[in-house]
Amino acid sequence: MSQRPIYLDCHATTPMDKRVLEAMLPYFTEHFGNPSSINHIYGWEAEAAVKKARETIANAINCSPEEIIFTSGATEANNLAIKGVAEAYFNQGQHIITVQTEHRAILDPCHYLEGLGFEITYLPVKKDGLIDLELLEKSIRSETILVSIMAANNEIGVIQPLKEIGEICHKHQILFHSDGAQAIGKIPLDVQTMNLNLLSLTAHKVYGPKGIGALYVRRRDPRVKLAPQLHGGGQEKDIRSGTLYTPQIVGFAKAIELGLNEIETEAKRQKELRDRLWKKLSQLEGIYLNGHPTQRLPGNLNVSIEGVDGSALLLGLQTIVALSSGSACTSTTTKPSHVLKALGHSDKLAYASLRFGLGRFTTAQEIDTVSKAAIATIESLRQVAHHLNC
Ligand SMILES: *Cc1c(COP(=O)(O)O)cnc(C)c1O
Repeated sequence: MSQRPIYLDCHATTPMDKRVLEAMLPYFTEHFGNPSSINHIYGWEAEAAVKKARETIANAINCSPEEIIFTSGATEANNLAIKGVAEAYFNQGQHIITVQTEHRAILDPCHYLEGLGFEITYLPVKKDGLIDLELLEKSIRSETILVSIMAANNEIGVIQPLKEIGEICHKHQILFHSDGAQAIGKIPLDVQTMNLNLLSLTAHKVYGPKGIGALYVRRRDPRVKLAPQLHGGGQEKDIRSGTLYTPQIVGFAKAIELGLNEIETEAKRQKELRDRLWKKLSQLEGIYLNGHPTQRLPGNLNVSIEGVDGSALLLGLQTIVALSSGSACTSTTTKPSHVLKALGHSDKLAYASLRFGLGRFTTAQEIDTVSKAAIATIESLRQVAHHLNC
């Protein structure tokens, strides 16, 4: 068997940390109780574990535990935030502001609401992927009920200025939601200083299990109303019914705890590796960095490469490294990335893009192997293209 390729696709998902698995294991078998069972020790044990996890997650974003609503991940948290607010506040207005470079789990609920008669403003981004704060403020109307702007982009890693956005929303008394799927455990998030009213989280982008996430829902100043999207047993304050998934919740909290413990050292380490990769790749001509050079996730590098075919590039690198191109992460169709298009790229250049997602287990040796292979592949593809053109 040949070796498996190096994994540099950490924006898609991350391997689970073994310490997370260890924390989870007892809750599958020994402590299997339903946290809602109030009549016996099986339920109490599970309930205690959920309570502790809720506290850990609340501390991580500076909110109180009762403001954390567990969901199946960030997709569900985003849907609950956007549709839940739309349904609860439609009497006050039917206008929502978001951004063209958001994840599908934001854009698609917004498209759905457009079908129901809501008006959505999709803000453009500047060349560096950041939003224009003045344009945001100008886009606010008396009917605006929600602003939803992601913390960190899943393709180009750009970190939006949440604090400044929060100030604008606070000034105009409009609810502010952020998709924090790529940010939690990697960059500091504070719902108080950022004036956030709603924040979506997920575990599997930060070395936790898949299938678990949360929505932070502010309960005072102001108390956010949300229409539930799943009705049933009334768990999670009636906002999200369904038996709580204790092992996943325990793993989620452990993942966040580990992420926060190492947040500064890991950011520094990954940034060094990322910069090392860019230093090597940027020796090539016709290669461009996508997104703001410094205001981005430490483990993200996204580049567009002139004069190569995107799918040939990915194919050429396939045995060496697992990563995403400028089309893969949107869906199963092969449309060019809407994020790279929003930066002003042509379809061709958007396709000829690579997203490197470094993570906790990425080593310097791996980075050197990948940069060498990428440079060799790009050079040989360009040579072939040159001969074909002659
Ligand atoms: C991965 C991701 C999601 C989806 O999260 P799930 O937990 O997989 O549903 C949403 N938004 C962003 C920015 C993401 O990176």
